[in-house]
Amino acid sequence: MSAGDHPGLLPMEAALERLLALADASRIDESEPVSLADADGRILAEPLIATLDLPPWPNSAMDGYALRLADWSGQPLPVSQRIQAGNAPLPLQPGSCARIFTGAPLPEGADTVEMQENVELDEAGCVYFREPLSIGQNVRAQGQETRVGECVLPAGTRLGPIELGLAASLGAAQLWVRRRLCVAVLSTGDELVEPGQALGPGQIYNSNRRLLIAWLLRLGCAVVDAGILPDDLPRIRTALGALGEVDLILSTGGVSVGEADFLGMALREAGELTLWKLAIKPGKPLTFGHYQGVPVIGLPGNPASTLVTFGLLARPYMLRRLGVQRVEPLGFEVPAGFVWGKPGKRREYLRARLENGRVVPYANQSSGVLRSAAWAEGLAEVMEGSTLAEGDMLRFIPLSEILG
Ligand code: AMP
Ligand code: MG
Repeated sequence: MSAGDHPGLLPMEAALERLLALADASRIDESEPVSLADADGRILAEPLIATLDLPPWPNSAMDGYALRLADWSGQPLPVSQRIQAGNAPLPLQPGSCARIFTGAPLPEGADTVEMQENVELDEAGCVYFREPLSIGQNVRAQGQETRVGECVLPAGTRLGPIELGLAASLGAAQLWVRRRLCVAVLSTGDELVEPGQALGPGQIYNSNRRLLIAWLLRLGCAVVDAGILPDDLPRIRTALGALGEVDLILSTGGVSVGEADFLGMALREAGELTLWKLAIKPGKPLTFGHYQGVPVIGLPGNPASTLVTFGLLARPYMLRRLGVQRVEPLGFEVPAGFVWGKPGKRREYLRARLENGRVVPYANQSSGVLRSAAWAEGLAEVMEGSTLAEGDMLRFIPLSEILG
């Protein structure tokens, strides 16, 4: 059985495909130069092309002695120079060797390095090579990592510590990156109040606002915090009108079927909005639409649903709008440490941990329980229509794959 057997429920793959197609159609192409120090988390707008060979010249991979192999006849060689990293060596005197250290340029004429542990020095300070030598050993050839003109990172690469280190190794002081995606965050619900205020009857604290804003900032977005919107049409209209220019409106709450959906009404007046019923749990209701031309994603209000739908759908959508190609989180197969007896109509994303190499779900999988995700290390994917015995394999998506 698949989600296709349940008309009206949109399978996960189809939902993601639609969102990515929408993202491709509204790609953000504007870019800006940033210094390397400010480029962490940004997305490369232009490919990074090597402007030099790496390494720029042959150098030693060891502390030891550099020689021209043809000069070694079994007789100890005198040491004609000492070359440390940062030195500019003289050409190697024929019939001699050079003391050399890791990262130091090979002198012209040398082609081989022996590590210091494998040599003996005689009373005159000449070097005897105890072990057989092979030409080129312990030499890092010029350009072995990169040649001038090679594309080292394609456009659309998300920059992290490794990419920044690589760009620095090529001497790039600044990079052209896509401008930040500007996202407005709205929390809807009469019941919501902010931490720091006293809870009145029937009220709860707004968790999604902090969850989403912190996450969006990690994703390198600029955030417009629209705060809490009450379930009240005129006030929602006013708040939407005051948003200014943004690239995406992200709301939570008010998307369940049958409820007085004032945000939906306000959005429909000035654009269009479609309710998707996703074949996933948590996170069945999700809306997508446009408000005065600005894309809107309406996430379900329950915090664990917000987490799953943002992480698995909104996040890939946002990254793709900035030109990132690989937007889906990596997961890996792990054996179940639990039994799943009843096949579901929807794919379940259990907040789960790895214990002794097996995946164990948090006891309470209610979509309102954010604590499940704080306990969890990842999302365990139980496919629609499937049952699991202990030891059966299922996909585990580490939270670290989606949180950054
Ligand atoms: P809704 O989609 O508005 O029907 O909300 C579904 C559930 O999520 C309800 O129990 C809401 O109280 C809760 N909820 C909605 N928004 C938030 C929020 N921002 N923080 C915490 N819980 C919320
Ligand atoms: Mg609500």
